[in-house]
Amino acid sequence: MNTPDNTSKTTSVPEGTAVPVEKSDSQWREELTPEEYRVLRQAGTERPYTGEYWDTHTEGVYQCRACGSQLFTSQEKFDSHCGWPSFWAPLAEGTVRYLHDRTMGMDRVEVRCANCDSHLGHVFEGEGYETPTDQRFCINSVSLRLVSPKN
Ligand SMILES: [Zn+2]
Repeated sequence: MNTPDNTSKTTSVPEGTAVPVEKSDSQWREELTPEEYRVLRQAGTERPYTGEYWDTHTEGVYQCRACGSQLFTSQEKFDSHCGWPSFWAPLAEGTVRYLHDRTMGMDRVEVRCANCDSHLGHVFEGEGYETPTDQRFCINSVSLRLVSPKN
């Protein structure tokens, strides 16, 4: 083994993109269900209208299914009728990170958990929803876990 450790700066990962929670692929496979793994770690998409939360109005905080980081709240959730849970803003600045996604012939902005870099969904803008931001964070239910204050 002649892998240099901490001796050279990698050029592929820009500074400031390190995430607090880093696990190996096999660790994620062990901890997540196959569907969670497919969406969170392989940027998959659950089928619309099939997820647990697309039509949920329960009050609470939506955590990252992979690491438990608090990402969204029911206060910013709105009915977009797109088949996935939709939010007009994250819980706070910096809870999610954004990546340009040009796969599938579309130019989209991918939303990932800032804490563990797991895939959450995409964010769309200027669609005309009557929300304070006119943004739609279109998030997979399987990427989230709703924690209700009553529990
Ligand atoms: Zn996370």
